[in-house]
Amino acid sequence: MSSAGEIWSTGADGPYWDGLADGRLMLPRCSSCGRWHWPAVWRCADCGSWDHEWQQVEPAGQIYSWTRNWHPFGGLESLQLPFVIGVVALEAAGGARLMGLVEELAGPVKIGAPVTGTFATTVYAGRSVPAIHWRTT
Ligand SMILES: [Zn+2]
Repeated sequence: MSSAGEIWSTGADGPYWDGLADGRLMLPRCSSCGRWHWPAVWRCADCGSWDHEWQQVEPAGQIYSWTRNWHPFGGLESLQLPFVIGVVALEAAGGARLMGLVEELAGPVKIGAPVTGTFATTVYAGRSVPAIHWRTT
């Protein structure tokens, strides 16, 4: 595991952080039933398998939900207010949902709007964190 996964992982999600640091979106898929899981899990809740395979996923999807934040949360003071946080349903990962900042490049964000992800960093508590930022297209 590279340093990104060692620093930011809470356990099962280390390859996700390593992938972001390398400019790739990696998500776990159950080796037995094929279901995508996010957040990462050790054991598949659908079939009980302990085996997951991390696969690279195209960072593209649709806005499932979003909010415009006007509050300066602790640790995120580097973000200019307001900022938009979205939950994106990933087409290439069976609809698995991933959160991230949303950049409104093609007009205001809307439920169902197509977005593409870019690999970036977010400063949290003064430290750079690998991140994916979603852009409206
Ligand atoms: Zn399974």
